[in-house]
Amino acid sequence: MAARRPLILISNDDGIDAPGIHALAAAMVPLGEVHVVAPLLEQSAVGHAITLRDPVRAHPWPFRGPHGKITAHAVTGTPADCVKLAIDKLLPRTPDLVVSGINQGPNAAVNVIYSGTVSAATEAAILGIDALAISYCRWVGGDFGPSAVIAQRIARQTLQRGLPPGILLNVNVPDLSLQAMKGVLITRQARSRWEEAYSERLDPFERPYYWMAGTFVNLDDGENTDLQALETGYVSVTPIQHDLTAHDWLDELGTWTLESEASTGS
Ligand code: MN
Repeated sequence: MAARRPLILISNDDGIDAPGIHALAAAMVPLGEVHVVAPLLEQSAVGHAITLRDPVRAHPWPFRGPHGKITAHAVTGTPADCVKLAIDKLLPRTPDLVVSGINQGPNAAVNVIYSGTVSAATEAAILGIDALAISYCRWVGGDFGPSAVIAQRIARQTLQRGLPPGILLNVNVPDLSLQAMKGVLITRQARSRWEEAYSERLDPFERPYYWMAGTFVNLDDGENTDLQALETGYVSVTPIQHDLTAHDWLDELGTWTLESEASTGS
């Protein structure tokens, strides 16, 4: 009996009509049976939000690639909602791989925690499915072709080799042609933060409101960071996980006195 083709779920946070998800879906078609379940509206920077207080609807969506029609649903929710709903209700079986992207703009350093693109892939990892997040390091327009080639290469390898439970790959592709890229580096997230300078304005009723206007600061001059790889023309691949426990500090915390003296029985 011929092996069943892998089922590949595609999602994103830029919305189902974004150019990046079309490039990604087309790149996955040679690898398996592709289903798209993506947010109806852009959900960039929603992080791992899920929808609990409103209904979520899934609309069958016309989604056409160079290889013909692809089964697709537009969901009135977040990227994490899309992956949860797809796996529970919309897909014919559990997917073999979830790929999120191709995001318009990088998702490196601290931005991983704000990223809806990464969260779609993280949700898959939580549910025990191999997953990749792919981001193209350009904020507007450009050519998603090189990122799609990289995505296909890494997805093929992931289908062949598999990932350990709970670990997913966060891939960032520089805004260069394939020929101009220097290669692929395995990286860690750079230590970084946004320093916010909220713009304060007045609404027509003279009430103040605020608009976020932050500046990104790279605080990491160490080796092997995602930002360094991208700045020097390499594709960055970071293995990430959702377990936020500070494992290295568990023993130290154990030396604190956290129980009352009465309950320690002394
Ligand atoms: Mn986005």
